[in-house]
Amino acid sequence: MRLSELPLEVVADCPLCHESGARDFVSRGDGMQVVQCTTCSFLYLNPRPVNEALQRIYSTAYYESSDEMCGYREYLRREREALDGGWHIGYTILDLIEQFEPLLGKKVIEVGSGSGSVLRIAAQKGATVQGIESCAEMAQYIQKHLAMSVMHGSLEDADLPDDAFDLVLLCEVIEHLSDPLGAARQLQKCLKPGGLLFLTTPNAGCTGRFGGSWYGFHASYEHVSYFDMASLNRLIGQASLDVLGAWSFGDTHPDVHDKKSDTASTLLKSVLRSFASELAPSLLNRYRRTKRRQTLYPCTGIEQAHSLWLLAQKAATPYAE
Ligand SMILES: [Zn+2]
Repeated sequence: MRLSELPLEVVADCPLCHESGARDFVSRGDGMQVVQCTTCSFLYLNPRPVNEALQRIYSTAYYESSDEMCGYREYLRREREALDGGWHIGYTILDLIEQFEPLLGKKVIEVGSGSGSVLRIAAQKGATVQGIESCAEMAQYIQKHLAMSVMHGSLEDADLPDDAFDLVLLCEVIEHLSDPLGAARQLQKCLKPGGLLFLTTPNAGCTGRFGGSWYGFHASYEHVSYFDMASLNRLIGQASLDVLGAWSFGDTHPDVHDKKSDTASTLLKSVLRSFASELAPSLLNRYRRTKRRQTLYPCTGIEQAHSLWLLAQKAATPYAE
């Protein structure tokens, strides 16, 4: 699936600061153009698919995609394997959040809940959980197999009550949204005073080292917004939230610059993985759990890891007007 085949619209103003000036930054692997706001430096796709067309991407095909450009391969199988092995990313995320706020008895909502793995871990920790999911089949899957409350639709269409949740989860979602600021403001409203917003997104700060050849521009072509720590801070501030902590997670994907070694190392890793999963699955799971813990770094401004994690809080008392 190519985004350029969808109905496109020209973005007149920066989605973050609403100023109009922008310069070309990089032409992605699919030919779509990423521009940089000349006022706030935010990177966004322009032109981009109209929102209605963008929403239609998230079907069953998206989660079981054989497409190199967009979506996930064998999503459900991988999710189950990670949950059963105890190394799902949700464990790392929720353990981190619990360093700030225990989840027992808390009300949690996840936007883009996929197959519900993170919500399932949150429920195991004693939270009351709820999801919003664009893909109808995934929403049905959660309701059927996990008996959790999930709303099928987009965040924009969700009529969320004010001051209702202790924690909002937004994992690898904000970069898919045409109006990330509107979404952040909507989520701030639905948080209780003192409530937390946790989000993860690919780290466009990697462009400082890799420029236009950064991995983020050459995979996941459904992304329309690219955040680094500065633009994420701006987003959070404009949504009247306070940053409690920021982390850089994962590797840098340097191998994307060398397709040959990328293919060779990917092949080698997959052979080693299949051997290990046949011969010593518990050892492999232990290695994966350890690796998850080791690759989370507090953000101090020069991180190059591929993913940014951020925890923000709604003020406990309303701001003075
Ligand atoms: Zn801007």
